[in-house]
Amino acid sequence: MKRSLFTLPTMGGNAMARLDALSAISDEPGRLTRLYLSAAHRRAADLVATMMRDAGCDSVVMDDLGTVIGRYEGAEPNAPALVIGSHIDTVRDAGSYDGTLGVVAGIGIVESFKAIDHRLPFAIEVMAFGDEENVRFPTNLSSSRAVAGTLPENTLDARDEDGISVRDALVAFGCNPERAFSLGRRREDVLAYVEVHIEQGPVLEARDLPVGVVTAINGASRRRVSLQGMAGHAGTVPMSMRRDALACAAEIVLAVERLGAVDPHTVATVGRLLVHPGAINVIPGGVALTLDLRGPADDIREKMVEVIETAARGIADRRGIDIIIEPFYDAAACPCDERVIIGLERSIHRLGMSPYALPSGAGHDAMAMAALCPVGMLFVRCAGGISHNPAESVTEEDVDVALRVLLEFVRDFAEGN
Ligand SMILES: [Zn+2]
Repeated sequence: MKRSLFTLPTMGGNAMARLDALSAISDEPGRLTRLYLSAAHRRAADLVATMMRDAGCDSVVMDDLGTVIGRYEGAEPNAPALVIGSHIDTVRDAGSYDGTLGVVAGIGIVESFKAIDHRLPFAIEVMAFGDEENVRFPTNLSSSRAVAGTLPENTLDARDEDGISVRDALVAFGCNPERAFSLGRRREDVLAYVEVHIEQGPVLEARDLPVGVVTAINGASRRRVSLQGMAGHAGTVPMSMRRDALACAAEIVLAVERLGAVDPHTVATVGRLLVHPGAINVIPGGVALTLDLRGPADDIREKMVEVIETAARGIADRRGIDIIIEPFYDAAACPCDERVIIGLERSIHRLGMSPYALPSGAGHDAMAMAALCPVGMLFVRCAGGISHNPAESVTEEDVDVALRVLLEFVRDFAEGN
């Protein structure tokens, strides 16, 4: 079948219209805030369900963690599914595209196949998750983890700042929390999970590319570093006799910046620096700082952590500063599936562009779904790399490219590639 039959001229336009409609649904007047299991989340879930039905899904259900699932059957009933999805919750004062783009992308794909009444050798399921931003409850990707069968036991007891538990919020939302732990899909029923998402970084824009293929979701290591020197009078202690903890910290910050850039895909940040006692006329005696180190490959990230820790100890030793480095968070990277990466790259090629691969610095539902099935992600350029902000912006042209790439990918996937 010719590609022209699959690609509707209005894919990008339809997606933008759906994104606009969703971005009007908020818990707060004048700005977009749609927290998990809120009234606005409920209205957005209902609208997404309507969009799924209108696009041609054969069935639309909401699961017991509030995930809206639209299914477009394959040629045979009960075929395993290719899942396309993302989330419809937002941060407070959010932009219009983070999450929802991946949901409307899935809806657009169903719409395209339905328009020519084409059935694939597998089903397509579009999933609109509700708990990705983890703003309201101290949970972590609970709706996608439920589908993956890895929902943590204590999830239902987590409470928001008003003391409302996830369990009670689910009941109010129309869900049955007793079924929360039986939502996990069987591996044989899910072929792969593909998520279209705004990049949330500036790389695609800098390279003048509409889309990029994600290689992995970065792993992260975090450390608390405390430096202890000697406080003293800023006027009387000669420079040669000082043990200035802040000067030591300054040197460490620059070393982190330099060593974080050795590999092109790692990033390293000192985001917090507390100076004690913090007075204009006192030599700083103590500094507490944080390290946030990320990368798409665990071995490379672990090596970077080691090199940075060694450098920091060396700098402190030379300056006579006591140093303590405490690990408090380590998360492995989530590599994207090779078949999905290659398939997306091939699709980009076929549409006359050069594929570009990049890691994801932020977490996504794909991380949770990776426990269930092969996952892949397609990033879309966003203006200035800005996200979690009302200034978040994408163009209709770029969204159109992303949808065409995804459509080509699905078509290719159906041929067994
Ligand atoms: Zn997101």
